[in-house]
Amino acid sequence: MNAIIFGPPGSGKGTYASILEKKLGIVKVSTGDIVREEIEKNTELGKRMKDYHDKGELVPDDIVIEVLKKRISEPDYAERGFILDGYPRTIPQAEALSKITKIDVIINLNVPDWIIIERLSNRRTCRECEAIFNVKYVKPKIEGVCDKCGGELFQREDDKPEVIRERIRVYQEQTRPVLEYYKGKIPFAEFVCDSPDIPPEVNVEIILGKLKKMGFL
Ligand code: ADP
Repeated sequence: MNAIIFGPPGSGKGTYASILEKKLGIVKVSTGDIVREEIEKNTELGKRMKDYHDKGELVPDDIVIEVLKKRISEPDYAERGFILDGYPRTIPQAEALSKITKIDVIINLNVPDWIIIERLSNRRTCRECEAIFNVKYVKPKIEGVCDKCGGELFQREDDKPEVIRERIRVYQEQTRPVLEYYKGKIPFAEFVCDSPDIPPEVNVEIILGKLKKMGFL
C-alpha cells in the first residue's frame, strides 16, 4: 500500500506515520525529517533550506521534489510500500509525485486550529532519532530525554508561537488546495480528531479500522 498522510501542521501526521510504519511494515517517508537532517548536517541542500524552514515557509518545490525522488526510487520502498508524511504540500509537488509512483489512499486528518496550537507549542523532538513528545500530552519518562534512544529533546525552531501562526497560514494557502486536487482521483480515509489528549495509539487503531473497511489491509 502506498499512502499519503495529510493534515495541517501538528495534526499528528509524523507520530501516526511512525506507528503505522511499525504496525504495517511499510516505510515512512517524512520530508520534514529529511529537511531537518540536511539542515542539521549543514549540507549544501541544508544551507539552501534553512531560512525557509526556520521562518515556517515551504522549501522551494524543486529541492523537495528532487530529494523525494531519490528516496522513493530505492528498491525497499517499491517492495514494502510507503507512507508519505509532509508531502505533497503544493499542487506542483502532487503533479510531480503522480509521475513517479501510484498512490492508493489518502489518510486525511481533520483537526481544529486550537488543538494544533496546543500540540505544537508543547511539542519536543529528539535531536537524534526525531521521535516526537509533548510536554503536556505525550510526556517523556525523564524530562528532556528521549524514551527511545536517550537523545536530547529540543523545541524545533518552527514550533515557536510566531512561526506556528505562519505555518498554519501557509497550510491554508498552499497545502489545503492539494486536497481538492486529489478529490475524485484517490480514495480518502477521513479521520476526525476533536480532543488533544487521546493517546496516538488509540487514534491509529481508528485509522487502521478505516483502512481495513476500505479493503487496503
Ligand atoms: P509540520 O507538518 O509539523 O509542519 P514538517 O516536519 O512536516 O512539519 O515540516 C517542517 C518544515 O519543513 C516545513 O515548514 C517546511 O519548511 C519544510 N518542508 C517539509 N516538507 C515539505 C514539503 N513537502 N515542501 C516544502 N517544504 C517542506
